[in-house]
Amino acid sequence: MNYKYVIIGSGPTGLGAAYRLKELGITDFIVLEKENRIGGLSKSFVDEKGFTWDVGGHVQFSHYKYFDELMLKALGADGWLTHQRESWVWIENRFVPYPFQNNIKYLTPETMWKCLEGIIHNYKFPINQKPANFREWILATFGPGLAETFMFPYNFKVWAYPPEDMNAVWVGERVAVTDLQRVTKNIIFDQDDFSWGPNSTFQFPKKGGTGGIWESVGDLVGREKVKLNATVEKVIGPEKKIILADGEEIHYEYLMNTMPLDLFTQRVEGLDSETVQLAQGLKHSSTNVVGVGLKGKPKESLETMCWMYFPEYNSPYYRVTVFSNYSPNNVPDISQNWSLMTETSESLAKPVNRETLIDDTIRALIEDKLIESADDVISTFHMAFDYGYPTPSVERDGILKAVLPKLEPFGIYSRGRFGAWKYEVSNQDHSLMQGVEWANRVAANIPEVTMPFPETANAMWGK
Ligand SMILES: Cc1cc2nc3c(=O)[nH]c(=O)nc-3n(C[C@H](O)[C@H](O)[C@H](O)COP(=O)(O)OP(=O)(O)OC[C@H]3O[C@@H](n4cnc5c(N)ncnc54)[C@H](O)[C@@H]3O)c2cc1C
Repeated sequence: MNYKYVIIGSGPTGLGAAYRLKELGITDFIVLEKENRIGGLSKSFVDEKGFTWDVGGHVQFSHYKYFDELMLKALGADGWLTHQRESWVWIENRFVPYPFQNNIKYLTPETMWKCLEGIIHNYKFPINQKPANFREWILATFGPGLAETFMFPYNFKVWAYPPEDMNAVWVGERVAVTDLQRVTKNIIFDQDDFSWGPNSTFQFPKKGGTGGIWESVGDLVGREKVKLNATVEKVIGPEKKIILADGEEIHYEYLMNTMPLDLFTQRVEGLDSETVQLAQGLKHSSTNVVGVGLKGKPKESLETMCWMYFPEYNSPYYRVTVFSNYSPNNVPDISQNWSLMTETSESLAKPVNRETLIDDTIRALIEDKLIESADDVISTFHMAFDYGYPTPSVERDGILKAVLPKLEPFGIYSRGRFGAWKYEVSNQDHSLMQGVEWANRVAANIPEVTMPFPETANAMWGK
Protein backbone atom coordinates (compact mmCIF):
# COMPACT_ATOMS: atom_id res chain seq x y z
CA MET A 1 0.00 0.00 0.00
CA ASN A 2 1.00 3.63 -0.50
CA TYR A 3 -0.10 6.56 1.62
CA LYS A 4 1.18 10.09 1.45
CA TYR A 5 0.85 10.49 5.23
CA VAL A 6 1.31 7.66 7.73
CA ILE A 7 0.89 8.03 11.48
CA ILE A 8 2.20 5.53 14.03
CA GLY A 9 -0.05 5.39 17.10
CA SER A 10 -3.67 6.33 17.82
CA GLY A 11 -3.17 8.29 21.05
CA PRO A 12 -4.11 11.99 21.18
CA THR A 13 -1.09 12.97 19.03
CA GLY A 14 -1.87 10.53 16.23
CA LEU A 15 -5.58 11.28 16.32
CA GLY A 16 -4.86 15.03 16.34
CA ALA A 17 -2.77 14.70 13.19
CA ALA A 18 -5.37 12.52 11.49
CA TYR A 19 -8.22 14.83 12.44
CA ARG A 20 -6.37 17.87 11.09
CA LEU A 21 -5.43 16.16 7.82
CA LYS A 22 -9.08 15.28 7.29
CA GLU A 23 -10.08 18.84 8.13
CA LEU A 24 -7.64 20.05 5.46
CA GLY A 25 -9.49 17.90 2.96
CA ILE A 26 -6.79 15.24 2.77
CA THR A 27 -7.82 11.60 2.57
CA ASP A 28 -4.52 9.98 1.62
CA PHE A 29 -3.47 8.95 5.16
CA ILE A 30 -3.61 6.04 7.60
CA VAL A 31 -3.09 5.61 11.36
CA LEU A 32 -1.32 2.40 12.42
CA GLU A 33 -2.09 1.22 15.95
CA LYS A 34 -0.58 -1.89 17.54
CA GLU A 35 -3.37 -2.35 20.10
CA ASN A 36 -6.93 -3.43 19.36
CA ARG A 37 -8.29 -0.10 20.68
CA ILE A 38 -7.47 3.54 20.10
CA GLY A 39 -6.48 6.09 22.75
CA GLY A 40 -2.96 5.17 23.87
CA LEU A 41 -2.29 6.35 27.43
CA SER A 42 -5.57 8.24 27.31
CA LYS A 43 -7.60 5.00 27.12
CA SER A 44 -9.95 3.87 29.85
CA PHE A 45 -10.65 0.39 31.18
CA VAL A 46 -13.71 -1.19 32.77
CA ASP A 47 -12.93 -3.92 35.30
CA GLU A 48 -14.93 -7.10 35.90
CA LYS A 49 -17.10 -5.47 38.55
CA GLY A 50 -17.99 -2.52 36.28
CA PHE A 51 -15.63 0.14 37.69
CA THR A 52 -14.04 2.45 35.10
CA TRP A 53 -10.33 3.35 35.37
CA ASP A 54 -8.05 5.77 33.52
CA VAL A 55 -4.27 5.57 33.21
CA GLY A 56 -3.97 7.72 36.34
CA GLY A 57 -5.76 10.96 37.01
CA HIS A 58 -6.47 12.57 33.63
CA VAL A 59 -7.92 16.05 33.69
CA GLN A 60 -8.07 18.72 31.03
CA PHE A 61 -6.06 21.87 31.59
CA SER A 62 -6.18 23.16 28.04
CA HIS A 63 -6.27 26.71 26.90
CA TYR A 64 -5.80 25.87 23.24
CA LYS A 65 -8.93 27.12 21.53
CA TYR A 66 -8.58 24.44 18.84
CA PHE A 67 -8.43 21.68 21.46
CA ASP A 68 -11.37 23.07 23.44
CA GLU A 69 -13.52 23.27 20.32
CA LEU A 70 -12.65 19.74 19.34
CA MET A 71 -13.49 18.45 22.83
CA LEU A 72 -16.89 20.12 22.61
CA LYS A 73 -17.46 18.65 19.18
CA ALA A 74 -16.38 15.18 20.35
CA LEU A 75 -18.71 14.83 23.31
CA GLY A 76 -21.17 17.70 22.90
CA ALA A 77 -21.95 20.25 25.61
CA ASP A 78 -23.95 17.61 27.51
CA GLY A 79 -21.10 15.12 27.49
CA TRP A 80 -19.05 16.88 30.15
CA LEU A 81 -19.14 17.40 33.89
CA THR A 82 -17.40 20.43 35.41
CA HIS A 83 -15.50 20.20 38.69
CA GLN A 84 -13.54 22.47 40.99
CA ARG A 85 -9.89 21.51 41.10
CA GLU A 86 -9.66 20.67 44.79
CA SER A 87 -6.28 19.18 45.63
CA TRP A 88 -4.63 18.44 48.95
CA VAL A 89 -1.39 17.11 50.37
CA TRP A 90 -1.55 14.37 53.01
CA ILE A 91 1.32 14.90 55.45
CA GLU A 92 1.86 14.55 59.21
CA ASN A 93 -1.48 12.80 59.49
CA ARG A 94 -3.47 15.74 58.10
CA PHE A 95 -4.56 17.31 54.84
CA VAL A 96 -2.83 20.52 53.77
CA PRO A 97 -4.42 22.43 50.89
CA TYR A 98 -2.41 22.86 47.71
CA PRO A 99 -0.24 24.89 47.02
CA PHE A 100 1.61 23.45 49.98
CA GLN A 101 3.98 26.39 50.62
CA ASN A 102 1.11 28.85 51.07
CA ASN A 103 -0.61 26.68 53.64
CA ILE A 104 2.18 25.60 55.99
CA LYS A 105 0.11 26.96 58.88
CA TYR A 106 -1.55 23.53 58.84
CA LEU A 107 1.73 21.83 59.89
CA THR A 108 3.18 21.28 63.38
CA PRO A 109 5.03 24.37 64.69
CA GLU A 110 8.38 22.56 64.25
CA THR A 111 7.79 21.74 60.59
CA MET A 112 6.18 25.12 59.93
CA TRP A 113 9.27 26.85 61.31
CA LYS A 114 11.61 24.58 59.35
CA CYS A 115 9.83 25.58 56.12
CA LEU A 116 9.67 29.27 57.01
CA GLU A 117 13.31 29.38 58.11
CA GLY A 118 14.30 28.02 54.71
CA ILE A 119 12.35 30.70 52.87
CA ILE A 120 13.92 33.39 55.10
CA HIS A 121 17.35 31.86 54.36
CA ASN A 122 16.72 32.30 50.62
CA TYR A 123 15.75 35.92 51.14
CA LYS A 124 18.90 36.57 53.16
CA PHE A 125 21.16 34.70 50.77
CA PRO A 126 19.52 34.87 47.35
CA ILE A 127 20.80 32.45 44.73
CA ASN A 128 21.14 34.30 41.45
CA GLN A 129 22.77 31.54 39.47
CA LYS A 130 20.78 29.65 36.87
CA PRO A 131 19.98 26.22 38.39
CA ALA A 132 21.94 23.37 36.85
CA ASN A 133 19.30 20.77 37.70
CA PHE A 134 15.91 20.27 39.33
CA ARG A 135 17.44 19.86 42.82
CA GLU A 136 19.09 23.26 42.59
CA TRP A 137 15.88 24.76 41.26
CA ILE A 138 13.88 23.39 44.21
CA LEU A 139 16.39 24.69 46.75
CA ALA A 140 16.53 28.12 45.12
CA THR A 141 12.75 28.37 44.74
CA PHE A 142 11.47 26.86 47.98
CA GLY A 143 14.39 26.88 50.42
CA PRO A 144 15.83 23.86 52.22
CA GLY A 145 12.94 23.41 54.71
CA LEU A 146 10.15 23.08 52.14
CA ALA A 147 12.51 21.06 49.96
CA GLU A 148 13.10 18.45 52.67
CA THR A 149 9.55 18.44 53.97
CA PHE A 150 7.67 18.22 50.70
CA MET A 151 9.45 18.87 47.41
CA PHE A 152 12.26 16.28 47.59
CA PRO A 153 10.24 13.32 48.92
CA TYR A 154 7.20 14.08 46.77
CA ASN A 155 9.11 14.57 43.55
CA PHE A 156 11.09 11.39 44.05
CA LYS A 157 7.81 9.53 44.45
CA VAL A 158 6.42 11.09 41.24
CA TRP A 159 9.44 10.98 39.00
CA ALA A 160 11.24 7.91 40.36
CA TYR A 161 14.58 9.68 39.83
CA PRO A 162 16.59 11.90 42.17
CA PRO A 163 16.09 15.61 41.37
CA GLU A 164 19.76 16.07 40.46
CA ASP A 165 19.19 13.74 37.48
CA MET A 166 16.50 16.07 36.14
CA ASN A 167 16.83 19.39 34.32
CA ALA A 168 15.25 22.65 35.45
CA VAL A 169 14.06 23.65 31.99
CA TRP A 170 10.64 21.98 32.18
CA VAL A 171 9.66 24.04 35.23
CA GLY A 172 10.87 27.28 33.63
CA GLU A 173 14.33 28.74 33.72
CA ARG A 174 13.57 31.70 35.91
CA VAL A 175 14.24 31.25 39.60
CA ALA A 176 11.15 32.48 41.39
CA VAL A 177 11.38 32.98 45.14
CA THR A 178 8.58 31.67 47.32
CA ASP A 179 6.57 34.64 48.54
CA LEU A 180 7.74 35.19 52.14
CA GLN A 181 5.24 37.98 52.72
CA ARG A 182 2.29 35.89 51.63
CA VAL A 183 3.42 32.78 53.52
CA THR A 184 3.98 34.77 56.73
CA LYS A 185 0.66 36.62 56.44
CA ASN A 186 -1.21 33.36 55.99
CA ILE A 187 0.38 32.01 59.18
CA ILE A 188 -0.18 35.13 61.31
CA PHE A 189 -3.78 35.67 60.22
CA ASP A 190 -4.56 31.96 60.12
CA GLN A 191 -5.62 32.36 56.49
CA ASP A 192 -6.32 29.59 53.98
CA ASP A 193 -4.72 30.11 50.59
CA PHE A 194 -6.17 27.61 48.16
CA SER A 195 -5.29 27.46 44.50
CA TRP A 196 -8.86 26.62 43.61
CA GLY A 197 -11.47 29.29 43.25
CA PRO A 198 -14.38 30.03 40.95
CA ASN A 199 -12.15 29.89 37.88
CA SER A 200 -10.15 26.81 38.78
CA THR A 201 -12.38 24.28 37.17
CA PHE A 202 -11.80 21.30 34.96
CA GLN A 203 -13.98 19.09 32.84
CA PHE A 204 -14.38 15.34 32.75
CA PRO A 205 -16.43 13.16 30.41
CA LYS A 206 -19.79 12.09 31.77
CA LYS A 207 -19.39 8.61 30.32
CA GLY A 208 -16.58 6.27 29.37
CA GLY A 209 -13.78 7.93 31.37
CA THR A 210 -11.05 9.82 29.54
CA GLY A 211 -11.04 7.10 26.90
CA GLY A 212 -14.58 8.14 25.94
CA ILE A 213 -13.19 11.38 24.52
CA TRP A 214 -10.74 9.65 22.22
CA GLU A 215 -13.25 7.05 21.07
CA SER A 216 -15.38 9.98 19.90
CA VAL A 217 -12.42 11.70 18.25
CA GLY A 218 -11.76 8.36 16.51
CA ASP A 219 -15.30 8.51 15.13
CA LEU A 220 -14.69 12.04 13.86
CA VAL A 221 -11.49 10.89 12.15
CA GLY A 222 -13.31 7.90 10.65
CA ARG A 223 -12.69 4.39 11.90
CA GLU A 224 -11.68 3.23 8.44
CA LYS A 225 -8.65 5.54 8.76
CA VAL A 226 -7.29 3.68 11.80
CA LYS A 227 -5.78 0.27 11.28
CA LEU A 228 -5.86 -1.61 14.60
CA ASN A 229 -3.61 -4.55 15.52
CA ALA A 230 -1.01 -3.05 13.19
CA THR A 231 2.39 -3.09 14.91
CA VAL A 232 5.14 -1.20 13.11
CA GLU A 233 8.08 -3.58 13.21
CA LYS A 234 10.53 -1.77 10.99
CA VAL A 235 10.94 1.41 8.96
CA ILE A 236 13.34 1.28 6.04
CA GLY A 237 14.29 4.97 6.09
CA PRO A 238 16.00 5.33 2.70
CA GLU A 239 13.09 3.56 0.97
CA LYS A 240 10.39 5.33 3.01
CA LYS A 241 8.86 1.94 3.70
CA ILE A 242 7.16 0.53 6.80
CA ILE A 243 7.02 -3.16 7.60
CA LEU A 244 4.26 -4.33 9.91
CA ALA A 245 4.54 -7.33 12.24
CA ASP A 246 2.39 -9.40 9.85
CA GLY A 247 4.76 -8.62 6.99
CA GLU A 248 2.59 -6.03 5.23
CA GLU A 249 4.56 -3.24 3.56
CA ILE A 250 3.40 0.38 3.49
CA HIS A 251 5.10 3.18 1.57
CA TYR A 252 4.86 6.74 2.85
CA GLU A 253 5.99 10.21 1.93
CA TYR A 254 5.61 11.73 5.40
CA LEU A 255 5.67 9.62 8.56
CA MET A 256 4.78 10.79 12.06
CA ASN A 257 5.87 8.51 14.88
CA THR A 258 4.32 8.64 18.37
CA MET A 259 5.81 5.46 19.88
CA PRO A 260 8.64 5.97 22.41
CA LEU A 261 11.58 7.54 20.59
CA ASP A 262 14.22 5.24 22.09
CA LEU A 263 12.37 2.13 20.92
CA PHE A 264 11.47 3.69 17.59
CA THR A 265 15.06 4.53 16.61
CA GLN A 266 15.92 0.84 17.07
CA ARG A 267 13.39 0.07 14.33
CA VAL A 268 14.59 2.58 11.76
CA GLU A 269 16.94 1.11 9.21
CA GLY A 270 19.27 3.74 7.79
CA LEU A 271 19.88 5.58 11.08
CA ASP A 272 23.52 5.46 12.16
CA SER A 273 24.23 3.36 15.23
CA GLU A 274 25.55 6.36 17.15
CA THR A 275 22.16 8.10 16.92
CA VAL A 276 20.31 4.94 17.94
CA GLN A 277 22.69 4.57 20.90
CA LEU A 278 22.22 8.19 21.91
CA ALA A 279 18.42 7.82 21.95
CA GLN A 280 18.77 4.96 24.44
CA GLY A 281 19.99 7.54 26.97
CA LEU A 282 16.49 9.05 27.28
CA LYS A 283 15.06 8.28 30.71
CA HIS A 284 11.50 7.39 31.53
CA SER A 285 9.51 6.03 34.44
CA SER A 286 6.71 3.51 34.52
CA THR A 287 3.27 4.12 35.98
CA ASN A 288 1.38 1.57 38.04
CA VAL A 289 -2.31 2.31 38.25
CA VAL A 290 -4.08 0.60 41.12
CA GLY A 291 -7.82 1.14 41.24
CA VAL A 292 -9.78 0.31 44.35
CA GLY A 293 -13.56 -0.07 43.97
CA LEU A 294 -15.44 0.34 47.23
CA LYS A 295 -18.88 -0.22 48.69
CA GLY A 296 -20.69 2.54 50.55
CA LYS A 297 -19.86 6.22 50.26
CA PRO A 298 -16.68 8.24 50.79
CA LYS A 299 -16.36 9.93 54.15
CA GLU A 300 -17.51 13.54 54.23
CA SER A 301 -14.03 15.09 53.94
CA LEU A 302 -13.50 13.24 50.63
CA GLU A 303 -16.83 14.16 49.07
CA THR A 304 -15.53 17.20 47.19
CA MET A 305 -11.87 16.22 46.84
CA CYS A 306 -10.42 15.60 43.39
CA TRP A 307 -6.92 14.40 43.95
CA MET A 308 -4.41 14.22 46.79
CA TYR A 309 -0.61 14.18 46.88
CA PHE A 310 1.31 11.82 49.15
CA PRO A 311 4.93 12.77 49.90
CA GLU A 312 5.40 10.28 52.76
CA TYR A 313 6.95 6.86 52.37
CA ASN A 314 4.38 4.72 54.16
CA SER A 315 2.41 4.65 50.90
CA PRO A 316 3.58 3.40 47.50
CA TYR A 317 1.46 5.97 45.63
CA TYR A 318 2.24 9.62 44.99
CA ARG A 319 -1.28 10.58 44.01
CA VAL A 320 -4.78 9.34 44.73
CA THR A 321 -7.85 10.47 42.80
CA VAL A 322 -11.38 10.13 44.15
CA PHE A 323 -12.42 8.88 40.75
CA SER A 324 -16.11 8.44 41.58
CA ASN A 325 -16.22 12.23 42.18
CA TYR A 326 -15.24 12.81 38.54
CA SER A 327 -18.30 11.04 37.17
CA PRO A 328 -20.97 8.89 38.82
CA ASN A 329 -20.63 6.62 35.79
CA ASN A 330 -17.10 5.66 36.85
CA VAL A 331 -18.68 3.19 39.30
CA PRO A 332 -21.37 0.54 38.73
CA ASP A 333 -23.94 2.21 41.05
CA ILE A 334 -23.14 5.59 42.60
CA SER A 335 -25.74 5.07 45.35
CA GLN A 336 -23.77 2.05 46.55
CA ASN A 337 -20.18 2.50 45.33
CA TRP A 338 -17.25 4.87 45.19
CA SER A 339 -13.70 4.54 43.93
CA LEU A 340 -10.09 5.58 44.48
CA MET A 341 -7.48 5.48 41.75
CA THR A 342 -3.81 5.49 42.78
CA GLU A 343 -0.61 6.08 40.82
CA THR A 344 2.76 4.58 41.77
CA SER A 345 5.86 5.38 39.76
CA GLU A 346 8.63 2.91 39.04
CA SER A 347 12.13 2.98 37.56
CA LEU A 348 15.48 1.25 38.03
CA ALA A 349 16.20 3.95 40.63
CA LYS A 350 12.88 3.18 42.37
CA PRO A 351 11.79 -0.43 42.02
CA VAL A 352 8.26 -1.51 42.91
CA ASN A 353 7.11 -4.95 43.97
CA ARG A 354 4.25 -5.39 41.51
CA GLU A 355 3.24 -8.67 43.18
CA THR A 356 2.34 -7.00 46.46
CA LEU A 357 1.32 -3.58 45.12
CA ILE A 358 -2.45 -4.04 45.48
CA ASP A 359 -2.08 -5.18 49.10
CA ASP A 360 0.47 -2.44 49.84
CA THR A 361 -1.90 0.13 48.37
CA ILE A 362 -4.91 -1.00 50.40
CA ARG A 363 -2.84 -1.08 53.61
CA ALA A 364 -1.61 2.49 52.96
CA LEU A 365 -5.11 3.76 52.05
CA ILE A 366 -6.25 2.56 55.49
CA GLU A 367 -3.20 4.11 57.22
CA ASP A 368 -3.79 7.37 55.36
CA LYS A 369 -7.41 7.29 56.58
CA LEU A 370 -8.94 7.30 53.11
CA ILE A 371 -10.76 4.04 53.67
CA GLU A 372 -11.81 2.44 56.91
CA SER A 373 -11.41 -1.23 56.28
CA ALA A 374 -10.27 -3.69 53.63
CA ASP A 375 -13.77 -5.19 53.93
CA ASP A 376 -15.11 -2.20 51.98
CA VAL A 377 -13.04 -3.13 48.93
CA ILE A 378 -15.16 -4.93 46.34
CA SER A 379 -12.90 -4.60 43.31
CA THR A 380 -9.21 -4.09 42.55
CA PHE A 381 -7.48 -3.26 39.31
CA HIS A 382 -3.77 -3.08 38.54
CA MET A 383 -2.08 -2.18 35.29
CA ALA A 384 1.56 -1.27 34.76
CA PHE A 385 2.43 1.08 31.91
CA ASP A 386 6.12 0.75 31.11
CA TYR A 387 6.27 4.19 29.53
CA GLY A 388 4.37 6.50 31.88
CA TYR A 389 6.40 9.71 32.35
CA PRO A 390 9.04 10.99 29.91
CA THR A 391 11.71 12.13 32.38
CA PRO A 392 13.04 15.63 31.71
CA SER A 393 16.55 14.44 32.51
CA VAL A 394 19.65 16.65 32.51
CA GLU A 395 20.86 15.10 29.24
CA ARG A 396 17.43 15.04 27.52
CA ASP A 397 17.58 18.20 25.43
CA GLY A 398 21.04 17.40 24.08
CA ILE A 399 19.83 13.96 23.00
CA LEU A 400 16.67 15.30 21.34
CA LYS A 401 18.62 17.97 19.51
CA ALA A 402 20.93 15.33 18.06
CA VAL A 403 18.39 12.58 17.33
CA LEU A 404 15.23 14.26 15.97
CA PRO A 405 16.86 15.98 12.95
CA LYS A 406 18.45 12.66 11.91
CA LEU A 407 14.98 11.28 11.18
CA GLU A 408 13.82 14.05 8.88
CA PRO A 409 15.85 13.06 5.77
CA PHE A 410 13.73 9.87 5.80
CA GLY A 411 10.52 11.93 5.96
CA ILE A 412 10.09 10.94 9.62
CA TYR A 413 8.93 13.26 12.40
CA SER A 414 8.63 12.04 15.98
CA ARG A 415 5.96 13.78 18.05
CA GLY A 416 3.86 13.37 21.20
CA ARG A 417 4.43 12.41 24.83
CA PHE A 418 7.12 9.82 24.14
CA GLY A 419 7.70 10.56 20.48
CA ALA A 420 9.18 13.97 21.33
CA TRP A 421 9.87 13.26 25.03
CA LYS A 422 9.06 16.77 26.24
CA TYR A 423 7.16 16.40 29.47
CA GLU A 424 6.32 20.10 29.52
CA VAL A 425 4.19 19.65 26.40
CA SER A 426 2.95 16.10 26.88
CA ASN A 427 -0.57 16.41 28.26
CA GLN A 428 -3.55 15.50 26.10
CA ASP A 429 -4.03 19.02 24.77
CA HIS A 430 -0.33 19.46 24.00
CA SER A 431 -0.14 16.03 22.42
CA LEU A 432 -3.16 16.59 20.23
CA MET A 433 -1.76 19.95 19.17
CA GLN A 434 1.64 18.42 18.37
CA GLY A 435 -0.21 16.20 15.92
CA VAL A 436 -2.32 19.04 14.54
CA GLU A 437 0.73 21.28 14.12
CA TRP A 438 2.66 18.47 12.40
CA ALA A 439 -0.20 18.09 9.91
CA ASN A 440 -0.20 21.85 9.36
CA ARG A 441 3.54 21.76 8.74
CA VAL A 442 3.72 18.90 6.27
CA ALA A 443 0.46 19.60 4.46
CA ALA A 444 0.15 23.40 4.64
CA ASN A 445 3.67 24.59 5.36
CA ILE A 446 2.69 26.24 8.65
CA PRO A 447 5.52 26.16 11.23
CA GLU A 448 5.09 24.16 14.44
CA VAL A 449 5.21 25.79 17.88
CA THR A 450 4.37 23.31 20.63
CA MET A 451 7.06 20.69 20.01
CA PRO A 452 9.99 22.97 19.11
CA PHE A 453 9.09 25.82 21.51
CA PRO A 454 7.30 24.43 24.59
CA GLU A 455 7.79 27.58 26.65
CA THR A 456 6.28 29.77 23.95
CA ALA A 457 3.36 27.38 23.55
CA ASN A 458 2.68 27.27 27.28
CA ALA A 459 3.00 31.03 27.61
CA MET A 460 0.73 31.63 24.62
CA TRP A 461 -1.95 29.16 25.48
CA GLY A 462 -1.65 28.67 29.20
CA LYS A 463 -0.73 25.53 31.13
C1 LIG B 1 -0.14 8.69 34.89
C2 LIG B 1 -0.52 9.67 33.82
C3 LIG B 1 -1.31 10.76 34.15
C4 LIG B 1 -1.66 11.68 33.15
N1 LIG B 1 -2.45 12.75 33.48
C5 LIG B 1 -2.86 13.62 32.52
C6 LIG B 1 -3.72 14.71 32.85
O1 LIG B 1 -4.13 14.88 33.99
N2 LIG B 1 -4.09 15.54 31.84
C7 LIG B 1 -3.67 15.37 30.54
O2 LIG B 1 -4.08 16.15 29.68
N3 LIG B 1 -2.83 14.36 30.22
C8 LIG B 1 -2.41 13.48 31.18
N4 LIG B 1 -1.57 12.44 30.84
C9 LIG B 1 -0.96 12.43 29.51
C10 LIG B 1 -1.76 11.74 28.40
O3 LIG B 1 -1.97 10.41 28.70
C11 LIG B 1 -0.92 11.92 27.13
O4 LIG B 1 -0.89 13.29 26.84
C12 LIG B 1 -1.37 11.27 25.88
O5 LIG B 1 -1.91 9.99 26.00
C13 LIG B 1 -0.15 11.19 24.94
O6 LIG B 1 -0.58 10.93 23.66
P1 LIG B 1 0.37 10.35 22.53
O7 LIG B 1 -0.49 10.12 21.38
O8 LIG B 1 1.54 11.25 22.39
O9 LIG B 1 0.98 8.99 23.10
P2 LIG B 1 0.29 7.65 23.61
O10 LIG B 1 -0.99 7.95 24.29
O11 LIG B 1 1.35 6.95 24.37
O12 LIG B 1 -0.04 6.86 22.26
C14 LIG B 1 0.93 6.21 21.51
C15 LIG B 1 0.26 5.09 20.72
O13 LIG B 1 1.23 4.46 19.89
C16 LIG B 1 0.94 3.08 19.86
N5 LIG B 1 2.15 2.33 19.46
C17 LIG B 1 3.29 2.14 20.18
N6 LIG B 1 4.16 1.38 19.50
C18 LIG B 1 3.59 1.10 18.30
C19 LIG B 1 4.01 0.36 17.17
N7 LIG B 1 5.21 -0.23 17.11
N8 LIG B 1 3.16 0.26 16.12
C20 LIG B 1 1.94 0.86 16.14
N9 LIG B 1 1.50 1.57 17.20
C21 LIG B 1 2.31 1.69 18.28
C22 LIG B 1 0.50 2.78 21.28
O14 LIG B 1 -0.20 1.57 21.39
C23 LIG B 1 -0.35 4.01 21.60
O15 LIG B 1 -1.69 3.81 21.26
C24 LIG B 1 -1.19 11.50 31.82
C25 LIG B 1 -0.41 10.38 31.50
C26 LIG B 1 -0.07 9.48 32.48
C27 LIG B 1 0.77 8.28 32.13
